[in-house]
Amino acid sequence: MIRFHILGAGGAVPTPTHNPAAYWVTVDSQSILMDPGPGALVRLVQSGQAPRGVDEIDLVFFTHLHPDHCADLVPLLFALHSPVPVRTDPVQLFGPPGLASYLEKLRDIYGTWIKPRRRSLVVTEIGPGVTVPLPGGGSVRPFQVDHMQDRLSRICLGYRFLDAEGHVAVFSGDTGPCAELNKAATGADLLVVECSTPDHLATPGHMSVSEVGRLCAEARPKQVALTHQYPDAAALDLAALVGKLYDGPVHQAVDGTVFIVPRDTGEKCP
Ligand SMILES: [Zn+2]
Repeated sequence: MIRFHILGAGGAVPTPTHNPAAYWVTVDSQSILMDPGPGALVRLVQSGQAPRGVDEIDLVFFTHLHPDHCADLVPLLFALHSPVPVRTDPVQLFGPPGLASYLEKLRDIYGTWIKPRRRSLVVTEIGPGVTVPLPGGGSVRPFQVDHMQDRLSRICLGYRFLDAEGHVAVFSGDTGPCAELNKAATGADLLVVECSTPDHLATPGHMSVSEVGRLCAEARPKQVALTHQYPDAAALDLAALVGKLYDGPVHQAVDGTVFIVPRDTGEKCP
């Protein structure tokens, strides 16, 4: 089973209902903090999904290293440095090339304040062609997407989550339309896709409403969750607009929306 809990359904500009990027993804028994953008830790403990706080985190994945996707890394490491968390197994961080040097720069600034007290930190840079196996039989596979490359984020990633029973959830990360996303999303049980702007504000490296609609019409995922909404997009009925181009189930996420694969688990979801 895969649970995809939207902690932050917004982009860089926070609103009361759309915090910057943050996701709590549970694949079978593994708990993944995906893209700890600003406010992610607060949203996580507010969600009720992490009663033991940061001790619940098994793995952390990054799609890229823009601030709206990674700004809570320092608060996370500082929390792990405190005496409160009790777990002693390693914290595993996965992300695109550049993640290790980013962490080194943070260590230059913060020194041992961001060294976890009891858990070691295992940093693994990944890219297309790599599959991260999960305990229990699931996996996470990155694919390259079309976002803004820079010194920190030399490539940007989306992720395909597979549970032990073969269910698939795909997360676009930040991207413009690209063949890799279409391929990954084809037939997925759940597609969590960025929908940053209305069409008249379309921005390179991001998806507008109609671009999301065309992606869904081609890839035909079984369920679609719209996220990474900037305020102009969040103010619209995005599901209805995407629905003009795609006749499958489409849901406009806000902070706290939960998507579950498969959907017949009895848990409440859209
Ligand atoms: Zn972003």
